[in-house]
Amino acid sequence: MTPDIIGAGIGGLTMAIALEQKGISTRVFDQANKIKPIGAGIILANNAMQVFDKLGLREVIEENGNPIAAMNITKPNLQLLSKVDLTFFEKKFGVKNIAIHRGTLQKILVNKLSSTDLILNHRLSQITSRNNQHLLHFENGQQLTSPTLIGADGLNSIVRKYLFPNTIIRSAKQICWRGVCDFQLPLNFKSELNEAWGHGDRFGFVQIADNKVYWYALISHEKSNDTLSIHDLSTRFDHYNSIVQNIIASTPSDKIKMTEIADVKPTRIWYKNNACLIGDAAHAMTPNMGQGACQAIEDAHILSTCLARHTVHNAFAAYQKIRQPKAHHVVNTSWMIGKIAHLSNPIAVNARNLLMRLTPSFINRKQTESIFRIQKV
Ligand SMILES: Cc1cc2nc3c(=O)[nH]c(=O)nc-3n(C[C@H](O)[C@H](O)[C@H](O)COP(=O)(O)OP(=O)(O)OC[C@H]3O[C@@H](n4cnc5c(N)ncnc54)[C@H](O)[C@@H]3O)c2cc1C
Repeated sequence: MTPDIIGAGIGGLTMAIALEQKGISTRVFDQANKIKPIGAGIILANNAMQVFDKLGLREVIEENGNPIAAMNITKPNLQLLSKVDLTFFEKKFGVKNIAIHRGTLQKILVNKLSSTDLILNHRLSQITSRNNQHLLHFENGQQLTSPTLIGADGLNSIVRKYLFPNTIIRSAKQICWRGVCDFQLPLNFKSELNEAWGHGDRFGFVQIADNKVYWYALISHEKSNDTLSIHDLSTRFDHYNSIVQNIIASTPSDKIKMTEIADVKPTRIWYKNNACLIGDAAHAMTPNMGQGACQAIEDAHILSTCLARHTVHNAFAAYQKIRQPKAHHVVNTSWMIGKIAHLSNPIAVNARNLLMRLTPSFINRKQTESIFRIQKV
């Protein structure tokens, strides 16, 4: 069995590495003509790092990223509302939470591949069936048959459209700007992720390397055809702490990427006829828990193990049974957090902030532990 993977994102590459290490070679197809990263950072939470530890990637990721010891929610002036102490989980699970540049992570993943055939410049446009196999049609005119297919092609997955054309993509009505700038955070912020919540907007930032800060800014955005310029960004956040202002000012505007936030409404089935979805293709989520890639990485760990032990059909069934409840829990919780984070009515915002300050830390810890614990096969 040689599965073909569509998509060389974090999910597809991790899947290929995990399969290789179980003696299964793959072909990975991607639309890009070279693996070019989004200019943004990413938080690899404890659950993802446990998987990377199993794949022999923990050390290289730790060396190239910045460990973070706490995740804080604050007011716009950076006054603390809630804190998750990540050192507790470091001790419990034996790995750190790492903030890293996406480009650095992608390079690390690609460099780890050995027997995988990574085929770029292949944008999948359509899939049809032929003699119980999948016939892959690429925009460059190539056609290939594939007996076993893994769709790791993200939010707008073509594999998902082929398997489950009625899946719904939900707009969160939020716009996100992301950037990386040359910046040194003050010492007390260096090993923390801070996310400041305002009225219908928020701003997060974290040190990802010695002189690099990754940041993201989100605002509520009712009409999807509104156009918002990057200049609106600093005006919108002008009442936030001066660190926020300085970070925005340090980022060249051509290095800022804008994304409309959306997820995939949870579906009951992720596989059909020897084709299966992982990562955002299966369960794209809003980024409010910083778990989208982490969940894709967990998918790769579980599905590769199932494929090494079972027939393809049984492996897909076992993977879905193990992964779906947790992934959907994260999709739904992320969606809810996004709504709470973007409350704009002043009374509701005050009530929210009070509740966050009063929530005992053991409740935050319990919730986080359920996300960080990786599942057994
Ligand atoms: C603002 C924001 C912040 C985030 N922050 C975090 C975070 O801190 N931590 C975290 O864990 N997650 C985070 N996420 C989520 C994370 O980025 C995604 O969940 C993750 O990238 C999904 O990985 P994937 O491999 O499934 O899909 P993708 O990363 O979308 O990769 C899909 C791949 O498939 C390729 N592809 C797509 N269509 C085709 C086609 N037709 N033919 C060939 N190739 C194709 C693409 O080129 C791409 O390489 C964030 C998301 C957003 C929007």
